[in-house]
Amino acid sequence: AKSAGGNRFELADAEADARAITRHGLTTALPTALERGEFFIEYQPLVHLGDGSVRGAEALVRWLHPQHGVLGPDRFIPLAEHTGLIVPLGRWVLEQSVRQAREWRELQGGVEAAGPLRINVNLSPCQLTHPGLVQDTVDILERTGVAPDALCLEVTESALIGADDDLLKPLRRLAEMGVDIALDDFGTGYSNLANLRRLPVSILKLDRSFTQSMQQFPADPVDLKIVEGIVSLAHSLDLAVTVEGVETGAQAEQLRILGCDTAQGWYYARPGPPERLHQLALVDATG
Ligand code: C2E
Ligand code: CA
Ligand code: CA
Ligand code: CA
Repeated sequence: AKSAGGNRFELADAEADARAITRHGLTTALPTALERGEFFIEYQPLVHLGDGSVRGAEALVRWLHPQHGVLGPDRFIPLAEHTGLIVPLGRWVLEQSVRQAREWRELQGGVEAAGPLRINVNLSPCQLTHPGLVQDTVDILERTGVAPDALCLEVTESALIGADDDLLKPLRRLAEMGVDIALDDFGTGYSNLANLRRLPVSILKLDRSFTQSMQQFPADPVDLKIVEGIVSLAHSLDLAVTVEGVETGAQAEQLRILGCDTAQGWYYARPGPPERLHQLALVDATG
């Protein structure tokens, strides 16, 4: 038993070492990865729950690593945040995504069932405190000729908890220009609901955990009440509600009945290449 335990310990140790080495390797490879163009973006549609039309997409970054294959953002965003590379990487994601939105809008031509497609881009807390955020965003929108109201920046609830005015100022400037600010992963951060009034946000993105609790039928009555309460509060503050992680038609229907406005999830489409989004929107517009 003793030697078996010893082996297990050695194995666990080796795994921890391997993870640390990978983490170290990934961290040092990040800057060159950006230079070499190893990052790419997948787009996941945002669908109007009322009529099922595609309204836009969220940009989700991936890394095509030469040895490890495709890595999801959870593997490298924290490392990029730690080293500061998130600022140039985030700027790259923003520019690519806004360019993509312009391309979709050009391709849409006159066929717009539900208006021109919009683009959602995630902002890390480090980008929020970076002094260049507003100017970089303005520059990108001007360079690409995309209207500010085509863009939604997603900021996590936890990044804004206890945010002082200095942190909110750049978001306010962007909101005044017409950029939408969405509060991402809402409901996980225990923020004071009354605090919402202070934040320059126009969209609440309800965390996936709420959607998951709509999986059972009938859904947990307490969860139903909570979502109902959040939706009615959001609407009374003129905020739209987006739900993420919708995997089944039953969830979509339940969330539609609860008054949520927009949905995102595998039920509609997994994140995919930009052509895919355009096809979905076009099919949608032409019937
Ligand atoms: P997020 O912003 O909450 O994005 C939603 C995540 O849920 C995405 O994971 C998406 O692929 C996944 N998802 C979508 N629909 C479903 C569904 O129906 N079921 C389930 N189980 N999952 C679903 P992904 O792409 O791995 O991204 C993870 C996180 O990485 C994102 O969470 C976001 O916080 C971060 N991230 C992604 N791209 C960027 C970026 O460009 N910049 C920054 N700062 N963070 C990013
Ligand atoms: Ca997001
Ligand atoms: Ca989210
Ligand atoms: Ca999340």
